Amino acid sequence: MIRVHDTLTGKIVDLEPARPGRISMYVCGPTVYNQIHIGNARSMVWFDMIRRYLRYRGFEVMYVQNYTDVDDKIIERANLEGIAAEAVANKYEHAYELVMGALGAEQPDILVRATQHIEDMVAAIKGLIDRGMAYESGGNVWFSVEAFPGYGKLSNRSLDDMRAGERIEPSEHKRNPLDFALWKSAKEEEPSWPSPWGPGRPGWHIECSVMSTKYLGMGFDIHGGGSDLIFPHHENEIAQAEGLMGSEPFARNWLHAGMVQMEAEKMSKSLGNFVLTAEIVERFDPEAVRYWALMGSYRSQVTFSEATLNDATQAHSRWATFLTAARHALGDDAPTDLVTHRPVDAAEGEPLPQYVARAVEGLDDDFNSAAAFAAIHDLVREANRSIEGAQLNEPEAKKTLSGLLEQFLELTHLFGFTFPRTTEGTEILGALVEYLLELREDARKDKSFDRADAIRARLIEIGVAVEDTPAGPRWRIADNG
Ligand SMILES: [Zn+2]
Repeated sequence: MIRVHDTLTGKIVDLEPARPGRISMYVCGPTVYNQIHIGNARSMVWFDMIRRYLRYRGFEVMYVQNYTDVDDKIIERANLEGIAAEAVANKYEHAYELVMGALGAEQPDILVRATQHIEDMVAAIKGLIDRGMAYESGGNVWFSVEAFPGYGKLSNRSLDDMRAGERIEPSEHKRNPLDFALWKSAKEEEPSWPSPWGPGRPGWHIECSVMSTKYLGMGFDIHGGGSDLIFPHHENEIAQAEGLMGSEPFARNWLHAGMVQMEAEKMSKSLGNFVLTAEIVERFDPEAVRYWALMGSYRSQVTFSEATLNDATQAHSRWATFLTAARHALGDDAPTDLVTHRPVDAAEGEPLPQYVARAVEGLDDDFNSAAAFAAIHDLVREANRSIEGAQLNEPEAKKTLSGLLEQFLELTHLFGFTFPRTTEGTEILGALVEYLLELREDARKDKSFDRADAIRARLIEIGVAVEDTPAGPRWRIADNG
């Protein structure tokens, strides 16, 4: 059984889907008005990972994500760049897809845009007015927070707390200062759509209530997003959906990813606006950035710094190095099959291999990736020891290493790692090392032992360990980790 932390109840709960074997999830995507920040990227990488893990555990997952493509910020940006709001949205949607693709995130099953669902939103707003949950005032429509008794249940505060805590802007004809916009009347030259309340555009929150339930129905399994969305965005989504559609809970589980904090002044001085994900994936191996994003719990708040990215890069390259060395050591005996599913309901069958079992145990517990990463590191340590040992000529030892490599491939594939760059590079490296070892053998045959030793010394200096075994020299990239 997979257990998740549900923000609504504040508890770790069993993930029990509405329909057995299926998970429907909706995740709030970006407002496409600029390049995304590393904090947003980390959240989205994490929801990609959660989807991958649920699939690995045998669920059929339906993953819906939105683009907020009409918004004050987009309009502002359009004015600034002197182009249409639509062009701004297209531009940054494309930029988002490029950078998320680089980070190894798969496309959602359904990608929805606010501007393509205006009619649905107008219908929902009408419904809310009919039910006494909303009111029109001067071309705007407001949601009446007092009309929805559960308002505040997700962020766990009462209307009184909010009134005391929030800086409340003077209203344009609002009944309660906390009432929020469902429909905004259009100012001149702004994008607008016709409605019973005059031309305008939807407020931000209504799009997610409408689009999530349109594609997944009420009571879908997981609603996700960054923890900065809990209030007011997700609070308002609940009020709108439950205010309109009644008794059933809007979403069964609320998952929120922690925020990314920038390391203090140092960061801003030396790196400027380096916090844009597009710039980070240019400077670092994108797969190492993915490693960084996934190495700690999705819920924890993490600090972004060049040092943490360097650590992630180093740890990731240790895995890449191991992969090359293990493939090299096994040659044709390297495993070719990849296990891609470990269904929850197959639990009574065969026991899982050791390290896979450890990773699964961690990940079943609210996607504890730190436990899973620790298992992979231990696996690599054990396997490296067996490569270093000279006994790989024995079939039993080869079989053990092959089994470890199989688990390694299964787990790293699960996390979405493919080790693209390193593998290519190290194939060439491997060929060069082999060639140098041949030269060394030739030198030995000629009794030029000084030359032979010099070649070996040079290789060690570069970081290639060479061992002479009865079957000939064996090499590996020295593991400094
Ligand atoms: Zn949303």
